[in-house]
Order: sequence, then structure tokens, then C-alpha cells
Amino acid sequence: MSATLTESERDRVLAKSALFSPPPVALPDGRRELVGLSRPELIEELAAIGEKAFRAKQLWHWIYHQGTTDFSAMSSIARPLQEKLAQRFVIGRPGVATEQTSIDGTRKFLFRFRDGQEAETVYIPDRQEDRGAVCISSQVGCTLSCKFCHTGTQKLVRNLGAAEIVGQFMAARDAYAEWPSPRGETPRLLSTIVLMGMGEPLYNYENVARAMQIVMDNEGIALSRRRITLSTSGVVPMMDRCGEELGVNLAVSLHAVRDDLRDEIVPLNRKYPIKELLAACRRYPGSSNSRRITFEYVMLRDVNDSETDARELVRLIAGLPAKVNLIPFNPWPGSIYEPSTTAQLNKFASIVMDAGFSSPVRTPRGQDILAACGQLRTESERVRVRPAA
Ligand code: SAH
Ligand code: SF4
Repeated sequence: MSATLTESERDRVLAKSALFSPPPVALPDGRRELVGLSRPELIEELAAIGEKAFRAKQLWHWIYHQGTTDFSAMSSIARPLQEKLAQRFVIGRPGVATEQTSIDGTRKFLFRFRDGQEAETVYIPDRQEDRGAVCISSQVGCTLSCKFCHTGTQKLVRNLGAAEIVGQFMAARDAYAEWPSPRGETPRLLSTIVLMGMGEPLYNYENVARAMQIVMDNEGIALSRRRITLSTSGVVPMMDRCGEELGVNLAVSLHAVRDDLRDEIVPLNRKYPIKELLAACRRYPGSSNSRRITFEYVMLRDVNDSETDARELVRLIAGLPAKVNLIPFNPWPGSIYEPSTTAQLNKFASIVMDAGFSSPVRTPRGQDILAACGQLRTESERVRVRPAA
């Protein structure tokens, strides 16, 4: 894809994404949501009520470092101002509609947003260490319909707003009481974000980017970009921008090494075929041997798991700083595929490994509560199409 073509495609992707905008930041009672605003926007909101910029710094600290939702707990702010803030603003969280914990410790939250739409978030504790990852959704549903993915059977309802994306992480931290203690102990459990929940993050780039900029801000949640991984099914025109602006780790849902098969199981491939996808990976800013691109590959029995497929995979990614994450297929009600046999999985993994790529097999987590990769789906439905702004 030439540079200009990529740019116009990018504009097209962004314009389409705007059709699925989240609800506005103002509540029906007129109060405004502070979560999800950028620092300059927060300064502006405060200026509008006659407060100076240093207040924004204080508020930022309370909201994102301490995890406070209550203005009256903000001890560095005098009572009259606390009251003034509470009259005009809120520091919200998505509501927990349901919550389930798997026998392996994985915990799935179904969050409900202000307009009643829902999305799932999964906390996946690390087996060895005392820490874990939060798997965050970027959309309610998905416009794409990868054949092996449960979310793909649900139509895109709408994009999540920045507040709803950061809010999933913050609400998960609330559930684990994982905010810094008054003695200054820092959170450990919820220290990694993977954008691998419901939806295609690069089809909601603006909100995802805004949310990630907030979580990376040093005076707040302060996650390093190395602790964030964004997974895309291959929205080529947005990949460069993601690398330049966010510099987070990239995971690419490859799943097939031939266009005919990928066209079928990851239909986005018809728009951005394998060659273009890999070219975008080669250009991805910030990838290196210490920060490799992850290629996700869901192992579907007798569909994409042959030794020929493994050798072709190795040929395609040759020279890239890459690792391959083999994902055993997680079935869901109505799915048409079978997981590969363990023997086939191992054979595939060893071909990839012998070629010099690390090829860990992703152990399914939270399968008993349908929290594993590709099992997320909500009952939210699209009510009406919002006209373009
Ligand atoms: N839309 C993005 C991110 C969400 S999906 C993407 O597609 O990359 C996160 C990962 O789970 C993707 O690699 C996806 O292909 C994989 N996945 C989807 N359904 C799956 C299933 N049933 N079993 C195993 N992995 C699945
Ligand atoms: Fe959407 Fe990713 Fe599922 Fe494909 S795998 S349908 S892009 S969420």
C-alpha cells in the first residue's frame, strides 16, 4: 500500500469509526464525567469554573494515582472546592453487572455502562508470579466476523469511549483493592493490560489511544508502554499510527498463512491481505528483539494446523523480531471448529521453534466461565444507528 493510499484508507477507517460513537460525557443531570479526559481537557474543564491549572494536577493524582471516586476524600482540596467539584463533575466507574471467578483464578466482569450497554473484562492472574493481566474490551461487539470468534457473532453495537476503556481497568483495580496504599505500596496484581477483549481496537483507535495515553501518564496509573499489548486482526492503515503515537506492544491475529484461507476465517484479510499486513509489521515502530511482535495463531484442527502451514508461517515472518503465540481453539456454543490435537500442536510448535522463534502455547484460562480468548460475547444489541456527526 502506498503512503497516500494508506492515508486515505486511514481517514476512511476513522470516519467509519465515528459512526459508532459512545454516549456524550455529560450525564442527564448535567454533571460531567472527568474520567477519560486528557490533561489539557481537564485543565479546560477547571478553567471553565475559574480554577487554575494546578488543580488539574491535583485531581489527576486523586483520580488516577489514588483511584479516588469521591471528591470529599481529596484531602489536599479544601471543603468548599470539593463541594463545588461534586456539583459539577463525577468520577465514574462502569457498574458491575455480573462477576464470575474460574477455578483457575481468572475473573470475568460484565460491566454495564451508562446507556445500559455491556462489555466483558477479564483478569488473568499469572500462574507463577504474584501479578496478572487485565484483558480489556474496546467495543461492544465487533464489526468483523472471524469465524472462530464468539464476539464476531455479535454485531458491533458501538465503540467504547475512553472513559469506559480506562474505566474497565480502574473498576478491576477497585475489585482487587489495588490502588497504592497510604504507606506508598504500589499495585502489583493489575500491572499489565492486554487489549484482547471484545472488539477490534484499531477500529476504535481514537478512544483506545486516549485511554492508553491516560494509563501511561507518569503521574497516574503510570503503566509503561511495555506493559500494554494491543491485539489487532490486521487493520493495516492504523498500525503505523498506533506504533508512532502509542508505541505499545503489538500482537497480530494471523491465524492463516494463505490468503484463501485467511479470507475465509479472518474476513478482514480481503481488505488487507497477508502481504500488506506483514509489510505493516515490518514497519511497526519500536519493535526490536527485546520488543517482539506477537503473532497469534489459533490452532483449528485440520484447518490451519498442518506442518506445511507451520513451515509457511516461518517463511512469512523470517527476519521479523517476532514470537508466535499458539492459541488452542476455545469452543463456544455453536462454534464449528475443533481444537487441534496436542500432538499436532506440539509438532507445529516445534517447527516454529526450530526456526528460531519462541512459540509458547497459550494455556486457556477461565474456560469454565467462558472467559478464554474468543469466548466473550454479551447480549447487548444495537438499538439504532447514530447518524454521522
Ligand atoms: N479483535 C482483536 C482483539 C480481540 S480477540 C483481534 O482479533 O486481534 C483476541 C484474540 O483471541 C485474537 O487473536 C483472536 O483471534 C483470538 N480468538 C478469537 N476467538 C478465539 C477462540 N474461539 N479460541 C481461541 N482464540 C480466539
Ligand atoms: Fe473481532 Fe477480534 Fe473476534 Fe475477529 S477475533 S471477530 S476482530 S474480536
